[in-house]
Amino acid sequence: MKTLGAVLRSSGKPRPYAVSRPLEVIELDLDPPGRREVLVELRAAGICHSDLSVIDGSRERPTPMVLGHEAAGIVVETGPDVTHLRRGDHVVAVFVPACRACGPCGVGRPALCEAGNRANGEGTLLSGVRRLREGREPIHHHCGISGFAQFAVVAENSLVRIDSSVPLDIAALFGCAVLTGVGAVMNSARVTPGQHVAIIGLGGVGMAAVLGARTAGAESITAIDTLPHKLKQASELGATATVSADTHDAIARVREATRGGVDVAFDMSGSVRALEMAWQMTRRGGKTVSCGLPDSRHLLSLSPAQLVAEERVLQGSYLGGGDPALDIPRYVDWYREERLPVASLISARLPLGRINEGMDALATGSALRQIIVFP
Ligand SMILES: [Zn+2]
Ligand SMILES: [Zn+2]
Repeated sequence: MKTLGAVLRSSGKPRPYAVSRPLEVIELDLDPPGRREVLVELRAAGICHSDLSVIDGSRERPTPMVLGHEAAGIVVETGPDVTHLRRGDHVVAVFVPACRACGPCGVGRPALCEAGNRANGEGTLLSGVRRLREGREPIHHHCGISGFAQFAVVAENSLVRIDSSVPLDIAALFGCAVLTGVGAVMNSARVTPGQHVAIIGLGGVGMAAVLGARTAGAESITAIDTLPHKLKQASELGATATVSADTHDAIARVREATRGGVDVAFDMSGSVRALEMAWQMTRRGGKTVSCGLPDSRHLLSLSPAQLVAEERVLQGSYLGGGDPALDIPRYVDWYREERLPVASLISARLPLGRINEGMDALATGSALRQIIVFP
């Protein structure tokens, strides 16, 4: 069949993207779903920093590729041996497909799935195939999803079924921003009522973490970013204090306000400087958690003596540090119970044809979560 999709032919084009147009929206061929694969009509896809990292080249991925990894839609057709989805199901896509058979999957850590991460690196579906083509030229899949398209063929294990009462533009958020941000709070940091937390980097994931920390009952939530309008938004979402990352004494201020540092500091920005700040804001015996994915060539420096003598924990959190098949329905329930008001993360809805403008708005920090919606 045919589908419109936003193809990245090569990384590293200059900004503004509205002019250089790294993503070309064109008609592509989409092969039918194979064994344990599903054809999904996508209704919404979020524009996330990890898409931007592929466009600017800080995250290497094979091209040509249809980007997009935070998406929701409706199952149109199922391939052979699909067991847990049916036509008409509403689904959220997950950006690491779990094989449910490898070592990490076997111990309940699907974020580390060997086959899933290999497929993501190679730009294929979980089974190793590509279903997208432009004529005879194969097109790579982004994170097994390629959500910036009207239709997608994905592994059934890339999808989690959700209650059909949730609007699909909001549902898309649960695939990356909410899964990652709330998961970091609930699974990786295990924030408990009364704890003090700091969150550095207020993009979609950081703001979702603010919501998650509030849901978890944190005593104080200090939101930190360089952009004043992000600090204001974080206050509206439930941050109890804000600090500009550009203030010369930002670390000292947080340590003083929390009498020696926060119990958990999150780096959600993908910059090494922010992770170092998070480490310095963490109290003795506390946890520093990072969801940021900096350029893989960058290195972190910290004091191993402090790590030991202060019994510190430094933890990475990927895919929300849990099992998306369990976490997403749980977070959706919280949304429906109005305990997790994630709709406030959406700053704009755009048609697919304006995706390059959306990437500019993300790069400059003027947007929070922009959702591509399909008519
Ligand atoms: Zn993402
Ligand atoms: Zn696996």
